[in-house]
This record gives sequence, structure tokens and C-alpha cells, in this order.
Amino acid sequence: MTRTQGTPYVVGKGAGKISDANRLGLDYRVEAGRLPWRGAIWDVHTHIRDVAAGRVYFQAAEWFGLERVWSMSPLEEVDALRAEFGERIQFIAVPNYYAEDWEEAMGRDWLRRIEGFAAKGVKVCKFWGAPRGLDKTAKMWLDSPTRLESMRLARSLGMTFMVHVADPDTWFATKYADARKYGSKGLHYEKFERLLDQFSDVPWLAAHMAGHPEDLDHLQGLLERHGNLYLDTSATKWMVRELSKRADEFGDFCRRNPGRILFGTDIVAEQGSMSLDLFASRFWCLRALLETRYDGPSPVVDPDLAMVDPKQPKDATAHLRGAGLEEAVLGDLYLRAAEGLRGFGQA
Ligand SMILES: [Zn+2]
Repeated sequence: MTRTQGTPYVVGKGAGKISDANRLGLDYRVEAGRLPWRGAIWDVHTHIRDVAAGRVYFQAAEWFGLERVWSMSPLEEVDALRAEFGERIQFIAVPNYYAEDWEEAMGRDWLRRIEGFAAKGVKVCKFWGAPRGLDKTAKMWLDSPTRLESMRLARSLGMTFMVHVADPDTWFATKYADARKYGSKGLHYEKFERLLDQFSDVPWLAAHMAGHPEDLDHLQGLLERHGNLYLDTSATKWMVRELSKRADEFGDFCRRNPGRILFGTDIVAEQGSMSLDLFASRFWCLRALLETRYDGPSPVVDPDLAMVDPKQPKDATAHLRGAGLEEAVLGDLYLRAAEGLRGFGQA
């Protein structure tokens, strides 16, 4: 394997079709072959709705060297997805987000589903705590009595927890400005840290850099206070926007925390949001952010830019600046950290 750390990465001449996932007209398949990492990669965070969506996901995934994927798929689709994709796809238990009645979907139905997933050998359980869930029901507070009941059940079944805490700072400044309803960002972490202590015998994988790529010092403190906490890199637009602003600091953060950061994309593959370019753009952006010293426009439109600053055009893209991580750090992030985490690997 050769490393190109420190070498600027220049994208090829655009031949692809321009879209919100590809403002630069990249040929993502060609760009995939130009990225430096040649080893296996596990994507621990996706939402593959069904077999048709999985076929598109895996086509893009193969371009980018993905070996194994964890998907938050509906319980009803697990058997069909396994029959089609075999060992390449693993699952994370989720509630029925498509239900009309969220009180039931987050209540008794959720408990039944946790048992159903566990009966199929699923070893990870997701607790989605984005503040917008509170629009549906107060059960969505991470520490609501219903949640605690579901966490106790998942723990009793030997499951690792995956969690979504908070949301981007940009959203707390805009759509969550009503702190009486959504709570402050800090309040979500107060609750989260209490849960990490309450369930200290369970590993917790906190999605999207635990919801705070804006503040790596905060994340460092969380990791140091809670040995059972792990992070994933998923949510492309958010990670590119924030981690590019502090690419060197992010590189040091990865070096300082081997085994604690896992690679994930948060690709949502379902009817209406499926294309090779869409999925490939997520793989390319995240891999360029981690592996290269690319320093230029992201190819992906980021609506948060115009949301925070109305002077920005609707199709503005963030600046992408790569951390240029060295091979040992990448190997840890792409594979070894997941291999060593209960519920994902053998440990
Ligand atoms: Zn997700």
C-alpha cells in the first residue's frame, strides 16, 4: 500500500452528470480508484430499506471497497436482505419509524421488535434521540421511562447500543431555537452522560461523532469520562462542513483515540432517494476527508449553509479539507475499531 499523506489530491476532469450530489461533475467510479486506501472498509451506519435499495447501495459500495455494512432496516426485511446479500449485511434493531402511531411504535411495538431482532441474531440496538423526534412524542427523550425500559431489555439480550444524540449546532440555532420544546444542546448531553453511567456495562456507539463534530474538545472529554463510548463518522454533509474547518485537529483526535472511532456513512437507501451518484458521493466525501489532503469545494450541496446564512445560494457546497490520515490510523478507523467492538466484531 502506498500513502500519499501530505500530497494534495486533485480531482479528475469532470465527466459525471451534475446534480446536488455531484456539483463538480466527478466520475465517482474513477475517483474511487484514485483514493489511497486499498484495504477493507466496514460501514457501520446505513439505512437500507429493502433488497432493491440494497442492490444500488452495494454497487456503489463495491467501487469504494466496502466489505461489510450494518443497516437499520425494518425487521420485516431482514430475512430477504440476508438471503440476497449474505454475510455482507448485518443489522441494527430499529423501531417502526413508518408507523402512524408513534406512541405505540416507540412503546409496546418497540419492545416486541427488539425481541424480534434479537431472535434473528441482531446484536446492536439503535436509540434515535434527535430533538425533532420530540415533535412526535415526549417518549423520544433519551431518558424517558419508555426508553429506559427498552434499554434494559436490549441490555438483557446482550445488545450493544447505538445512539443519536443532539443534532448540528446549525439546527439548534434555527429549527430548534425553541429550547423549551427541544432542550438546549447541553441538556441532551447531560442526559446522555447519565445514561452512559447508568448502562456502563454496555458499549455505546454514538453516531455522527456523538453529534458534536463542532467541538472535538467536548468529544475528547466524553471519551475520557466514559470508557464505554465509541463514535462513528457518519452524516456526510455535517462531517464535511465541520471537520474540514479543523482538519488537523481532527487528525490528531483520531490518532489520540484508536479503537474508539468507527467509519460509517449514514447512507439512506430507499425508494425516492436512490442513485449511484448519491451513494458514491457519500463514500467519496468521507474517504477524501479521512485519507487525502484534498482542499477544495465539496461536490455535495449542503442546505445548512443557506439555512444559517440566507445570503448563500441554495446550492452552496461546503469546503472540504482532508485530514490525510496515515495508514495505521485508517486501518483502525475503517476496520479494526469495529472488529474490536462487541456487537460488531468478535470481541
Ligand atoms: Zn442514520
